[in-house]
Amino acid sequence: MIKELHQKLINKEITATQLTQDYFDVILKKDGEIGAYLTLTKELALEQAQLVDEKIARGQEIGLLEGIPGAIKDMLCVEGYRTTAGSKILDNYLAPYDATVIKKLKEGGAIILGKTNQDEFAMGSSTENSAYQVTRNPVDLSRVPGGSSGGSAAAVAGGEAVWSLGTDTGGSIRQPASFCGVVGLKPTYGRVSRYGAIAMASSLDQIGPFTQTVEDAAIVLSAIAGEDPLDATSAKSSDKKFEDYLTGEIAGKVIGVPKEYVEKLEGEILEVFEKSVEKFKALGAKIETISLPHTQYALPVYYILMTSEVSSNLAKFDGVKFGMRADDLLDSGVSDNELPKNLLETYLDTRKIGFGDEVKRRIMLGTYALSAGYYDAYYLKAQKVRALIRRDFEKAYEKVDLIYCPTCPEVAFKFGEKTTDPLKMYLSDIFTISVNLAGVPAISFPIGFLEIEGKKLPIGGQLIGKWFDEEGILNAADAFERNRE
Ligand code: GLN
Repeated sequence: MIKELHQKLINKEITATQLTQDYFDVILKKDGEIGAYLTLTKELALEQAQLVDEKIARGQEIGLLEGIPGAIKDMLCVEGYRTTAGSKILDNYLAPYDATVIKKLKEGGAIILGKTNQDEFAMGSSTENSAYQVTRNPVDLSRVPGGSSGGSAAAVAGGEAVWSLGTDTGGSIRQPASFCGVVGLKPTYGRVSRYGAIAMASSLDQIGPFTQTVEDAAIVLSAIAGEDPLDATSAKSSDKKFEDYLTGEIAGKVIGVPKEYVEKLEGEILEVFEKSVEKFKALGAKIETISLPHTQYALPVYYILMTSEVSSNLAKFDGVKFGMRADDLLDSGVSDNELPKNLLETYLDTRKIGFGDEVKRRIMLGTYALSAGYYDAYYLKAQKVRALIRRDFEKAYEKVDLIYCPTCPEVAFKFGEKTTDPLKMYLSDIFTISVNLAGVPAISFPIGFLEIEGKKLPIGGQLIGKWFDEEGILNAADAFERNRE
């Protein structure tokens, strides 16, 4: 899709300004229902589009993403615009600088249409934890778009953006991509700079794209990847053009299917998955059953390490340094004697009012796991098991080139179905979490549908690569996509 639009721009069939305007028109028409966007960055978008048009008029060459409109999860700082992370505590927070990915996109001439809705601080699997609004799945408006990057997934699925960025700590790009029937890529930990991304769990967070096609995901990844002196965990990497690695050829590749994942599948999802495995075989890949024996510990390990990092990362939201402060409520009619009387009360009240229930739950869990006397039993133990999970992948990759499984054990669920039972919600990420714990890259792409109530609900397949082998998973997913019926 991006290459076609690029062609239209350079052939002067459409201007970047017109293309951008067209997308704002779609947003105006559809977003009342879908609710993907929290903020539109219209002024910025039109300014960027104008620059691209001037460049084209001067006969200058433009990059593939130049003039192509996209959307940004509200977890990422865009200078001068509201960046809320889906939380009331950052309601009035204007980002004072651009995240590195935004800086790169702006320099590359990409158009930023706006900021998208998400679960508060990226905690959730349905976007129902946003402090602001509901985002509906464009495929079936009675269902959730997944989460936490639900707004970014819905924007692309609903035709309200060509591409978008999300963040993925335990599945927040891949699971919503699977639910909305689009492509979602979580790069290797370190591939993309996290500078300017509001931190959830810093040892797991990565930024990545949502797109309609695998090739588009490769193009967006090329634009945002690379080493960054502002993020010490970003890895040295060459300036790869990932889209140049899409050959459509996977003959001879060995794809491992983990038995621990397949065991959890049932019914039509299992059927669709098995059919997709046959497709890979037909394309010449060799399929092997493999074992990732520590899979069963991934969820508990994630919920100890992630919450520990959350409790530490979110300590800075205290009403002093960022966003709202409990005193601000004076303007909203709270009486004088209800206001905090000293510094400690200011901290406590700000966090009580500013954070939602799920965020508070995780801060409490993490604080407990890190507290003296429990540290060894929980945090330290979880770190050790994390190493074993990583080792499972290392061992598997001695025998296979790629690993393949479904992205989720289910399709998009209805609103309210899981909000009363956090554990049920957590289980939605059972196939995505190990990938973050190991730090490997993974892509979700549509492999079929489940028909329910007359709606074709998408099912996503997940290809997991070796560390820094994004081209491997992109190439295999692209080969599958080219041969989709
Ligand atoms: N759904 C998972 C969670 O709630 C993953 C979130 C994420 O990847 N940001 O923790």
